[in-house]
Amino acid sequence: MAIESFNPYTGRIERRFRAFSWAQTERIVSQAHRAAAEWRTTSFAHRSQLMHRAATLLRERQDELARMMAIEMGKPIVDGRAEVLKCALTCDYYADHAEGFLADEEIKTEAQHSFISHEPIGIVLAVMPWNFPFWQVVRFAAPALMAGNVGLLKHASNVPQCALALEKIFHDAGFPPATFRTLLIGSELVTKLIEDDRVKAVTLTGSEPAGAQVAATAGREIKKTVLELGGSDAFIVLADADLEQAAKTAAQARMINSGQSCIAAKRFIVEKPILKEFISKMKTHLLAFRTGDPLDEATQYGPLARPDLADELTQQVEDSVKQGAKVELFGGQSKPGTALFRPTMLSNVKPGQRAYEEEFFGPVAIILEAKNANDAIRLANDSRFGLGASIWTENPKRGEELARRVEAGAVFVNSLVKSSPEMPFGGVKKSGYGRELSYLGIREFVNQKSIWVA
Ligand code: NDP
Repeated sequence: MAIESFNPYTGRIERRFRAFSWAQTERIVSQAHRAAAEWRTTSFAHRSQLMHRAATLLRERQDELARMMAIEMGKPIVDGRAEVLKCALTCDYYADHAEGFLADEEIKTEAQHSFISHEPIGIVLAVMPWNFPFWQVVRFAAPALMAGNVGLLKHASNVPQCALALEKIFHDAGFPPATFRTLLIGSELVTKLIEDDRVKAVTLTGSEPAGAQVAATAGREIKKTVLELGGSDAFIVLADADLEQAAKTAAQARMINSGQSCIAAKRFIVEKPILKEFISKMKTHLLAFRTGDPLDEATQYGPLARPDLADELTQQVEDSVKQGAKVELFGGQSKPGTALFRPTMLSNVKPGQRAYEEEFFGPVAIILEAKNANDAIRLANDSRFGLGASIWTENPKRGEELARRVEAGAVFVNSLVKSSPEMPFGGVKKSGYGRELSYLGIREFVNQKSIWVA
């Protein structure tokens, strides 16, 4: 894929970038390797000071960075600012908590003194996607740098300006340049990077095929990976739920980032007695979302990030309809090769249809009818994915019990699924493995060393 900023709203190429050669990339790996030896010896207090400074710069630059996202991948400017502020919050969070999360852990044994020490491992490679160009990177970079590791970023080829802006933030904050570098490379150089002995681990957020390939290479090289892949999150509405609130939140949860979020609700599993009313209410809320220029303050959803993604989504919808799905609301593309995709809703979705089996990465709501709560859980679990889920009921205790039965990395009761710095984030099944955020996230890429003093 060419490394370029293509504006999906105007259809114009804004900037093209020359991809780094392997020789250039390898030089950066050498510098990062040398920097890692120094960086691991720095104190938490020092790292924390720089990370707080990065948070301040993110806040100061929120308008500029939100504009960049609007132009490179169509995110409404208001949402872009919110994304940048969440990044700042996460930098502050790890600046404040990393030392505690990585403190020695005393273990009682027959030894005089035995404990776990958490030590940096060196270069961590991050392969990141375009949907949250800042957030996806910061939730890797803030814990990695605070742990004493160094980061190399291979960002998606359609968000190079965001990738470079991130590098600049860390450099301007005072991190030694080689501790965080952006590599403007295509995915073909990722294999060579993973095979390099100086690169110690890889984290990838993106599609299943990309995750499988990166993990296969890392497996051959005996290197640790964290994978955060797709999701087809269930949004379960039980008959006793506050229907208006559930339908309103359902529409919001489907429309996050024009539907291009791994934790956007995708399958709406509704108990039969309330199905009709739910569909009607959710439709009203979906239709109320305003589209327009992502740079306009009033825009609530923009185009998809690239026209090919919209073409693929149209294909998924058309195939599902041929396979028997019923169109409850048709928005879709106005013509092939354009990135705007209006909200769409499908019902009568059955096993074997693409809408039942696959992730729909855009604003298409898939409605499934459940006979009762047990059937709703069965449907929720009948998916190759297991990232998040949401359950709606007037009875929180019942919600909690049902939450334990859902095969997912996170279940929210009476709320949409969201990520926050304090709670671990990640999936099961084909949604990936490992955790980001919280104290678990920072411990993924450290040597959890046992020290035993007899
Ligand atoms: P990809 O998975 O192709 O891209 C994500 C990142 O992986 C990019 O940096 C990409 O680089 C890189 N990459 C792709 N293939 C390889 C590979 N073989 N080896 C190493 N790195 C690779 O996502 P797409 O942009 O193609 O989006 C397609 C689908 O992926 C979406 O419809 C959605 O289902 C899923 N997706 C999920 C996301 C999530 O948050 N979990 C985010 C984005 C997409 P490059 O851009 O250079 O190809």
